[in-house]
Amino acid sequence: MAKRYDVVVVGGGPAGAVAAATASSLGLRTVVLEAATEPRLKPGEALAPECNPILERVGLSAVLASRPDVARRSAGIRSAWGGGEISYRDGFREPFGAGWIIDRSRFEQLLSARAVEAGAEWFWGMRLRAIERGDDGWRLDTSGPAAHRFDARIVIDATGRPASVARRLGARRIQYQSQIANVVAWTAQPVEAAWVSVESGPDGWWYSASAPNGSQLLAQFRDSPGVQAVASKPRIDLHDAIAATRLMRSVVALPPREALTHQAVVSAGSAALDHAAGEGWLAIGDAAAAFDPISSQGLSNAIASAEAAATAARNWIEGSSDALDAYAARMAATYDVYRDGLRAHYRTETRWRDRPFWRRHHNGRTADEGR
Ligand SMILES: Cc1cc2nc3c(=O)[nH]c(=O)nc-3n(C[C@H](O)[C@H](O)[C@H](O)COP(=O)(O)OP(=O)(O)OC[C@H]3O[C@@H](n4cnc5c(N)ncnc54)[C@H](O)[C@@H]3O)c2cc1C
Repeated sequence: MAKRYDVVVVGGGPAGAVAAATASSLGLRTVVLEAATEPRLKPGEALAPECNPILERVGLSAVLASRPDVARRSAGIRSAWGGGEISYRDGFREPFGAGWIIDRSRFEQLLSARAVEAGAEWFWGMRLRAIERGDDGWRLDTSGPAAHRFDARIVIDATGRPASVARRLGARRIQYQSQIANVVAWTAQPVEAAWVSVESGPDGWWYSASAPNGSQLLAQFRDSPGVQAVASKPRIDLHDAIAATRLMRSVVALPPREALTHQAVVSAGSAALDHAAGEGWLAIGDAAAAFDPISSQGLSNAIASAEAAATAARNWIEGSSDALDAYAARMAATYDVYRDGLRAHYRTETRWRDRPFWRRHHNGRTADEGR
């Protein structure tokens, strides 16, 4: 016997959790299906100053301020980009106020707890297996420790970059630029001033940050070797590569390889669906549009799109037939503005304009690889 909901949210990352909290607080009977059994380490720990208005809007600013174990104010961005000098963008001079550095697993745990407090049901360890259209909405089957069946009037795809619901429903994922990140993490004493550090190099760029619990993250971004699966993308040794940097090697104390708590190669380019909503469904966060991390827009887009999608879902259920198309048009407009800004930002680095990575980013080349 299937349980019946207004909204099924597939994926319980930041986007799914905020969508569920918003939908529940709008009075919609909501359930979240998350494949992982608990929040796990994911890269993405800087909430840029531009996130502050949306954090305020969804009631998260005060929560973060009261949870030093989850978030701390960022000192700002320290960068070696576009020239030999190291520049500092002080967080406290930002028009929107300083950004945050989060402990990503705890942040996701907190967002999940808020969704449940707002009235949503939440299932960990439940992966979507099949979805089909019925007379009065959707029927979803899941796999996991216990297989379940859910009926819903509307389904929200919050599965991140795979966009697995929207793609099953016929949407196409269009890759604008591909890029991979070699990511390592380890634990150290929390640093006093939480700077996010960014540095460009001949074949890509670097990023590092230090989370509230002392978790340190270092990522090197570079060209993706085409359409290969993530698992087959070669990991390069960051211990050797960091020696050629200027800023990173002076601010990051990379421990011996055996002390690393996490190592992964992940996709980190720009990609978006050809349409972010259709009859009875919407995609949010990275599922709708995934942003290059240099933009620091991923988490703000996850939260803002989740809030907008939950409101559109409520309006659609109440009879506003164009609510989902209007949401999709808004996502498309956001992504267009982002792409212009991205190209302009990469063009501020001119030292290696003839190297393949920079040539591609300066040209804003489209790489439709279907991922
Ligand atoms: C290297 C790197 C660094 C980044 N740094 C930053 C940063 O500093 N600041 C920033 O703002 N952004 C950053 N980002 C981007 C940011 O992490 C993402 O934008 C953000 O995670 C998007 O949230 P989401 O909820 O849409 O997707 P996700 O966080 O990917 O969550 C999707 C969830 O769906 C679940 N799921 C997937 N498939 C299924 C299924 N079939 N059934 C059930 N559940 C499923 C997954 O388990 C996952 O928990 C970075 C990204 C990368 C790759």
